[in-house]
Amino acid sequence: MSNSSLATYTRITKNKTSPRNHAIDTITIHCIVGQWTAKQGCDYFATTDRQCSANYVVGKDGSIGLSVDEKDRSWCSSNGTNDNRAITIEVASDTSHPYAVTAKAYAALLDLVTDICKRNGIKKLVWSTNKEDRVNHRNGCNLTVHRDFANKACPGEYLYSRHGEIAAEVNRRLQNASSGAGGELHPQPQKSPQAAPQGPP
Ligand SMILES: [Zn+2]
Repeated sequence: MSNSSLATYTRITKNKTSPRNHAIDTITIHCIVGQWTAKQGCDYFATTDRQCSANYVVGKDGSIGLSVDEKDRSWCSSNGTNDNRAITIEVASDTSHPYAVTAKAYAALLDLVTDICKRNGIKKLVWSTNKEDRVNHRNGCNLTVHRDFANKACPGEYLYSRHGEIAAEVNRRLQNASSGAGGELHPQPQKSPQAAPQGPP
């Protein structure tokens, strides 16, 4: 089990259960309630007396930090069953409703989630606005939110209302990657630009 190469800062916290007891098949996005960098978030989880952590922190500047190895269970969503199967991601956010995140953080989140899906064989993200669908993984639902398990606003309205959009964008990227249409992983061989267009034989 690997970690994301997108992480530019790593500081592993002791706040974790090692190893996780379930394959990774879920993603849980949180808002950290502070406009922090990834380093600030990882440093916080490494030094706090509170029993909390996340696998990744996405910073306000688009930085990505690793706080708990993917092979391990973070203490993030107030639910051990969820966190044993989920990669948890804390995203820097405003400190009050709707807990907005920066454009850079949002873009980095999309990149990170796409990378997590690719490496862990998650072929498609399935979101539902119905809590029962989410917590019971009905219809392949594999995005959960902290408010499913605790009386919390997390991930905040800004990110909660964008979960459908996040799933759609990540799925578009995953499909492009697997079909070779994305251009990043499987660039089409280019004919020499100098060559004259070829007529019919
Ligand atoms: Zn949360």
